[in-house]
Amino acid sequence: MMFEGTLSQGLNIGGGGGTTKEIKLRLRESGSSASFLSYDFILGTMLHELVHNVHGPHNATFYALLDKINDVSSSTPILDSLDIRC
Ligand SMILES: [Zn+2]
Repeated sequence: MMFEGTLSQGLNIGGGGGTTKEIKLRLRESGSSASFLSYDFILGTMLHELVHNVHGPHNATFYALLDKINDVSSSTPILDSLDIRC
């Protein structure tokens, strides 16, 4: 989702295409305070919303960039290089 409205998974406020003002991400299932959504789900949503910052609409150019970023993300284990513990 890229335009203002209710937060389903992620939200790009400002319309995208270089005009993003804020990105919001859902961290938990709606109505659940017991656990977080998976890291991969949240990362995938964040990458999707970041691509909207470059390409507003869901079109071929948008998905080409998202595929490229997902390929890099999946081949670069970010958490393995950080010392993060919950
Ligand atoms: Zn979208």
